[in-house]
Amino acid sequence: MLKLKDETLLKSDAFVNGEWLASSKRFPVKNPATGEVLAQVADLGASETERAVAAAADAFPAWKKKTAKERAAILRKWFELMMANQEDLARIMTAEQGKPLAETRGEVAYGASFIEWFAEEAKRVYGDVIPTNQAGRRLIVLKEPVGVVAAITPWNFPNAMIARKVAPAIAAGCPIVVKPAEETPLSALAMAELGARAGLPKGVLNIVTTSDAPGVGKVLTESQLVRKFSFTGSTEVGKLLMQQCATTVKKVSLELGGNAPFIVFDDADLDAAADGAMLSKFRNMGQTCVCANRILVQDDVFDAFAAKLSERVAKLKVGNGFDDGVTQGPLITMDAVEKVERLLKDATAHGAKIATGGKRHALGGTFFEPTVVTEVTPSMTIAQEEIFGPVATLFRFKADDEAIRIANDTRFGLAAYFYARDVGRVMRVAEALEYGIVGINEGIISTEVAPFGGMKESGIGREGSKYGIEDYLEIKYLALGGLQI
Ligand code: NAP
Repeated sequence: MLKLKDETLLKSDAFVNGEWLASSKRFPVKNPATGEVLAQVADLGASETERAVAAAADAFPAWKKKTAKERAAILRKWFELMMANQEDLARIMTAEQGKPLAETRGEVAYGASFIEWFAEEAKRVYGDVIPTNQAGRRLIVLKEPVGVVAAITPWNFPNAMIARKVAPAIAAGCPIVVKPAEETPLSALAMAELGARAGLPKGVLNIVTTSDAPGVGKVLTESQLVRKFSFTGSTEVGKLLMQQCATTVKKVSLELGGNAPFIVFDDADLDAAADGAMLSKFRNMGQTCVCANRILVQDDVFDAFAAKLSERVAKLKVGNGFDDGVTQGPLITMDAVEKVERLLKDATAHGAKIATGGKRHALGGTFFEPTVVTEVTPSMTIAQEEIFGPVATLFRFKADDEAIRIANDTRFGLAAYFYARDVGRVMRVAEALEYGIVGINEGIISTEVAPFGGMKESGIGREGSKYGIEDYLEIKYLALGGLQI
């Protein structure tokens, strides 16, 4: 059905303790472009989740004892297998998530890049020797794996959001249990199959598939055996899970929602800004946490920028992600379509103007027209919530300080973007933005070599880069006394 070169990558059972775990209870995974059922996936509950956690705990002592070089070799093999199977992994992802093949191929390479990166970083987890404060003592700092990790991930990047957690955890010496999103478990299961082929020992990687996120989430957050919890998803669910983690005082990493400003100043290269806005806004049909959510344009270049953006939006092609030339697939669910409609209705009722698009696409289902709305103001609901759909909202501003004030006037602080050329302005704005990631004359900021994460209610911790492995390590200080030196 999916025309895979290797049909055995399409799995529908969960993966626990190195084995495929069936269940009489199943839930359907559907193609959002067609509604077709792709697989009936094992629907695990609390007791099977406890088994997965126990398997990870059993695997910990031996995995921790392996040398970093041994762990790195397995991760490297896994990276190579992901890239060798890039096309099949991309096809599975387009089928369950809807984004076009060009994007899913890119996401598989992006996800694999974290496995490659952390295979290398595994070998660079250095400790410290602190100059002693007393004769006859030596003060040593060791970095140790934190223990069993549990992770919960969203549907919008079914491969990369898992790779960003699994790779540093496993590199650091921590077994992990992952609960992927109900909509997109097939990518996770295919990754697990390749991880097993690469030689991950049983229990080091476990995938718990379920339609009962709260039930499984409770085990993962409250188990005494889990020492670290990592979540990517909405701020509301992240807050709830953080509270649950408090019962056992786990280490917590959260990659949560955003409300990214994208500021176009009057000295910007407007073509470059329009190209950057297209990448930032319309990738994955606007369903990314770093999507430009509020495009603020300086008054004297507003009309020119709006025209350039609308021209580009008109060229987007909506359709099934498997079809040639398609740049925009369906939204993930009908709930997502209804949210976009609600936000647009509120905005237009308060004076916003639709420049292009604005309604469900003629293809039906969950397809939505790529949309540009102008004259949006900060008090509209669309300016305050994550749109998570293909809608570019344009705001006008006059002074730089006004743009910065509007940009920071949100509880979120994940990604921000701005286009300007004056170097003084560039540094002033970059330092004033309260965001974890700032794209300056750049619409795409994600890479495995740089720290990804948010300030304020967008999260805690960083993924990727040399900083990303720290979240999976404990610091142990040894005071070694009685030395006759
Ligand atoms: P979500 O509703 O929070 O779901 C994310 C994950 O949490 C899914 O696996 C979901 O399971 C699970 N979940 C939901 N309720 C739960 C509960 N009560 N207990 C335990 N688990 C629970 O978010 P989403 O709509 O899938 O994803 C979009 C959000 O993720 C956006 O806010 C986006 O900005 C954010 N995001 C952030 C980043 C980042 O790096 N900062 C990256 C990507 C996405 P089910 O799917 O099975 O319900």
